[in-house]
Amino acid sequence: MKYNVAVIPGDGIGPEVIEETIKVLKIIGEKFGHRFDYEYVLAGGCAIDKEGTPLPEETLEICKKSDAVLLGAVGGPKWDDPTAKIRPEQALLGLRGALNLYCNLRPAVLYAPLKNESPLKDSIVKDGIDICIVRELTGGIYFGERGLETVDGVKSAYDTERYNVKEITRIAKIGFETAMKRNKKLTSVDKANILESSRLWRSVVNDMAKDYPEVEVNHLYVDNAAMQLVKDPNQFDVIVTSNIFGDILSDEASMVTGSIGMLPSASLGEGTLGMYEPIHGSAPDIAGKGIANPLATILSAAMMLRYSFSLDEEAKVIENAVLAVLEDGYRTGDIMTEGKKKVGTVEMGKLVCKKIEA
Ligand code: NAD
Repeated sequence: MKYNVAVIPGDGIGPEVIEETIKVLKIIGEKFGHRFDYEYVLAGGCAIDKEGTPLPEETLEICKKSDAVLLGAVGGPKWDDPTAKIRPEQALLGLRGALNLYCNLRPAVLYAPLKNESPLKDSIVKDGIDICIVRELTGGIYFGERGLETVDGVKSAYDTERYNVKEITRIAKIGFETAMKRNKKLTSVDKANILESSRLWRSVVNDMAKDYPEVEVNHLYVDNAAMQLVKDPNQFDVIVTSNIFGDILSDEASMVTGSIGMLPSASLGEGTLGMYEPIHGSAPDIAGKGIANPLATILSAAMMLRYSFSLDEEAKVIENAVLAVLEDGYRTGDIMTEGKKKVGTVEMGKLVCKKIEA
């Protein structure tokens, strides 16, 4: 099979981690007889510099026509002025909107060899952590009506959390489907004791549960979910939640794993076109030094194979290779501990390739 991938290396360490990921995909292509064709496009700070806009029209068109988008990271101090009208991250929002990517899948996985990276105690982490957070991405309070007004002479501001049944249904479905592919346990997180929108959310999830009798469903209020994530993260399999709650909980979950350089993500929509990127940023402090951890981006490519191309076996081969390299004791600086073998970006990429070839 032939797959067209739009590649956005972006800024900072983006190009470095993307380069290693493309090498990994090359080996996968050779091993399984697939052809990946790449179109490299500009977005983020480098696009502002070259084209005057973070998301050039050409980039958008190529992404729309491709089978998947693979992104490194965008941003950096050069473009970080919060008052600037044009900012690199507008490229991400623009892409999600234009490609109608309403779901963000954020696995929070702590591989057993990296147990010590977690800030949580051994007795809590046990043999690692493996949670998948399904976050609604294009609705809720981040997109609801907002305003600034003066009421009775006092300045006030408001934002609106609004969800309709259609929006909840499509994200809940991804939650159930993801649970079916994993350990068949789904936790829906809301604030139904207070918010009307959460009560609608909960009723839609409960209705859908009837179509997935194999999935064990429970509901947690978001405050409790935040506590449970640090108290006993292994109680979770898949968490489905709204845009704002997912934003906060997925960052909390990634901290629990303790290794930002290891975590991939996927943004999905109605069809098979998705956007895949590591959760970390452009890490300007280490850009160009050859020390960035490429594993989050390599694991994002594995998600691309699984979710956009339905290549489950190939995805698993990449994930197993990453685990095997960690088991062999190789570490980039960000996950380095005493007694392990320190490697740079390129060497880490090579090690994963070798494991896949073996
Ligand atoms: P960051 O994730 O770039 O870096 C945070 C810390 O983690 C830094 O010390 C960095 O060196 C380290 N780190 C991150 N990824 C690493 C990797 N793969 N290997 C080794 N170490 C790694 O977050 P930040 O410093 O808050 O942001 C830097 C820039 O990135 C900002 O301009 C921000 O806007 C942008 N950003 C972009 C994205 C994205 O493209 N999706 C996400 C977050 C931040």
